[in-house]
Amino acid sequence: MRNHQVTDTLKRPLRDLRISVIDRCNFRCTYCMPAEIFGDDYPFMPESELLSFDEMETLARTFTKLGVEKIRITGGEPLLRKGMPELIERLSSLDGIHDIALTTNGVFLVKQAQALKKAGLDRVNVSLDAVDERIFQQMNGRNMKPRAVLNGIDAALEAGLGVKVNMVVQRGVNDTDILPMARYFKNKGVTLRFIEYMDVGQTNGWNFSEVVTKKEIYEQLTELSPLVPVEEAYFGEVANRYRYEGTETEIGFISSVSDTFCSSCTRARISADGKLYTCLFAEHGHDLRALLRHNKAGGETLEDRLTSIWQQRRDRYSEERTEETVRNRKKIEMSYIGG
Ligand code: SAM
Ligand code: SF4
Ligand code: SF4
Repeated sequence: MRNHQVTDTLKRPLRDLRISVIDRCNFRCTYCMPAEIFGDDYPFMPESELLSFDEMETLARTFTKLGVEKIRITGGEPLLRKGMPELIERLSSLDGIHDIALTTNGVFLVKQAQALKKAGLDRVNVSLDAVDERIFQQMNGRNMKPRAVLNGIDAALEAGLGVKVNMVVQRGVNDTDILPMARYFKNKGVTLRFIEYMDVGQTNGWNFSEVVTKKEIYEQLTELSPLVPVEEAYFGEVANRYRYEGTETEIGFISSVSDTFCSSCTRARISADGKLYTCLFAEHGHDLRALLRHNKAGGETLEDRLTSIWQQRRDRYSEERTEETVRNRKKIEMSYIGG
């Protein structure tokens, strides 16, 4: 049962927990894990460094006491971690958890969607950056065709999972596929969300000129249909939602660069090796694994430690983003923290 709702220095409650279960991936998306850097000799974490399911469960249970109601599983590619249905089952049985979601590149859903649904998974966010074969094959760095992901999406829908599709838009790379993607998912009645390309990590060589803003995308979409705004469903919802006029099919924008949402950011993130980050752009994490494995809390309980970290939180990177922070801040990789 929830004991208390902890808030940070900007009065933001702690509501969502994102757990990265693995740092490896079967893709090499150019903006996330460029193949030249994440090559055969890249030092991924050995299994012993990953949090075990027991450790994740203990952490998640403690987080529910501080107000967490939703859990998202991510990675790397989370479905590369063995035994995911077991983890989902354990987390979905926790008191106070109302929603469990998973972010995935979708390829393994064909095999796993049914078991994940049965285990208690509510929703999947499937990342797909283009329906155009050539563009998608180039972007995922593994020559994978969009069909492999589209089949995964179909499998998730058939299993009864909620499905949303996320497209990161990068100028000069996949912006020509905005309308083809919108048409495809409008016809299918599946929500598509456009994500502004962000300056996460150190490896993608981010440049503001590559960001296609919500405003530009919105203008393109009106060629397809007029859009009707949809009200925010809850405090801290990151997407601005619209529906195509005359339908119930929604589209969304996650405009973390052009229209920031730090003031309602209620998310804590745990890396696959058990570090807690209070912001996607944080330079340092808090080592919860050491606390769990070696009881290094010096008498402080895990709950006290988490409470004190959240109460001191003051992150609002996207609101403070400048040329200087883009260039000089040492940021963690998206494949490490999971987005
Ligand atoms: N592998 C899974 C996937 O791709 O869905 C989960 C992890 S991936 C890091 C989570 C999300 O982060 C994906 O939707 C991906 O497109 C997004 N992402 C990665 N790098 C990004 C960036 N620089 N800007 C915006 N989104 C990014
Ligand atoms: Fe892998 Fe997801 Fe990163 Fe692409 S975005 S490389 S699928 S972790
Ligand atoms: Fe939250 Fe940090 Fe993103 Fe702001 S920049 S919305 S504080 S994760």
